[in-house]
Amino acid sequence: MLGVVNDHVRLRPQIEALPAYVPGARPSGSAFKLSSNENPFPPPPSIVAAIIDAAQETNRYPDMYATELTEAIAAHIGVDADQVVVGNGSVAVLSHILEAFVNPGDEVVFGWRSFEAYPIAVAVAGGESVRVPLLDGAADDGASAGRLDLAAMADAITDRTAVVLVCTPNNPTGPVVRVDELDAFLARVPRDVLVVIDEAYLEFVRDPQAPDALAVFADHPNVVLLRTFSKAYGLAGLRVGYVVARKRLADGIRATATPFGVSHVAQQAALAALRVTDELEERVEALVAERARLVDGLREQGWTVPQTEANFVWLPLGDRTATCAAEAAAAGAVVRPFAGEGIRVSVGEREATDLFLKVAATWR
Ligand code: PMP
Repeated sequence: MLGVVNDHVRLRPQIEALPAYVPGARPSGSAFKLSSNENPFPPPPSIVAAIIDAAQETNRYPDMYATELTEAIAAHIGVDADQVVVGNGSVAVLSHILEAFVNPGDEVVFGWRSFEAYPIAVAVAGGESVRVPLLDGAADDGASAGRLDLAAMADAITDRTAVVLVCTPNNPTGPVVRVDELDAFLARVPRDVLVVIDEAYLEFVRDPQAPDALAVFADHPNVVLLRTFSKAYGLAGLRVGYVVARKRLADGIRATATPFGVSHVAQQAALAALRVTDELEERVEALVAERARLVDGLREQGWTVPQTEANFVWLPLGDRTATCAAEAAAAGAVVRPFAGEGIRVSVGEREATDLFLKVAATWR
């Protein structure tokens, strides 16, 4: 009967205790949406045409293993097709990875603050999150603020550790890990611990000290790479991500995936995106330039912001976070607040940068 409370069927305790995943707010009216690290450019016409074409076939299930797309990704990045597993956004692929490698009670180590889906996905998979604080910059006048503390993350590995998540650039703070740090870290990780390098923002990285993750993957059989079409490729709305892993591991991840998890429309759009990478890279270049304008503008105002290599900037505001986020929204720039810590501002349109800089100046 409707309205009768069911007190008998129990949720798993880990699910009852889950923190909420708060999506970036959707602005009303003409406000700029700078809350979800999306690409502000709508897809180029050739991608829209591929989407429309693919829509004709929505009475059919999609290719379950996204064969053509998997092969195209593998060719694009120079690995074997059996080393790529495509999923419904890289966040779903991450869940599949954890389901494949985490036994009940196993530990998953990651830096914190980082991508908020991590502790949720770990709990859903039955694991225990081990959060290692980011560097605070106290030792070097703020230079290392917001960076992953890879040495402390290596220290945090125990016999119960199944997986380590390395988010680079780190969401929401922005810095990348350096190649020397990553090498030293990987030398300390036991060979039976899986290391997931989450490169959602890879295409925005310009720091020459950032690692070439594919080379790292080639050298380390326990490393997998997580990538997405949501950010640089501008397909957040269609949900396509993938993992690059050794064949045996890839087979295991594929086995846990949702059957037919990536729609035909999404597969065709991602394929179309791989045909116009030059055009998409030009847009990324424009966003990297816009990022520099935003960071420089904030620093000129006197803010200390971490070195960002992604399409967002972290502004540590502490107790003022909620008020500042509300003021930015009222002014027409919807940003992402992390209560009591700071706000993350996505790099978007030129006018959005101008507007946000104007608002931030009033907080000094
Ligand atoms: N990893 C990181 C670090 C992210 O910030 C995001 C998106 N916010 C994702 C993965 C997931 O992206 P998607 O599921 O859209 O591929």
